[in-house]
Amino acid sequence: MLNIPLNGLKTGKQSFSRSVGKEFFESFDNSEVLDASLHVEVTAFKSGSSIDIDMSLRGSLTVECDRCLEDLQMPVAQDVRLCVSFTRDDGETQTKGEGDEREILAVSPDDDAIDLDQTVYDYAMLALPLQRVHKDGECNPAALRYLGKPSEEVNSGNDSGENNPFAALKGLFDK
Ligand SMILES: [Zn+2]
Repeated sequence: MLNIPLNGLKTGKQSFSRSVGKEFFESFDNSEVLDASLHVEVTAFKSGSSIDIDMSLRGSLTVECDRCLEDLQMPVAQDVRLCVSFTRDDGETQTKGEGDEREILAVSPDDDAIDLDQTVYDYAMLALPLQRVHKDGECNPAALRYLGKPSEEVNSGNDSGENNPFAALKGLFDK
């Protein structure tokens, strides 16, 4: 768990860091992430009752390539700026003034620590693009053949490929 203890948090700047591996994503029941190597660096700035948090995620996540289904390592470089908001019992939230671009992280005043696990998880997953494929030419050719997918050379000729509605039909009849 990546926690910032609230009781012991001194005024000023404090830094924490942690490495996050595959188990972290498994604990969120995530099966998309096959392997992970992330370095999370957190800097908390406390001033009076306000706490700002800067977080950086650096490293890589390994997912399955959408095209050849082989391992694909995606670089992760995310910077996150948060400000902690202590939610009162009535659910009202103390918000900061305008012009602060930090995302609000709601924390109950009863909590004795800020749990950043969910935030780390969310931003790591945000770093993954929707299209997860190897760069052209880097897919495993044997895997592509096995899957019956067209080679990338054929694929790159746009109009004759997937965009043609008859291409799908042709594939059916070939089998
Ligand atoms: Zn691939």
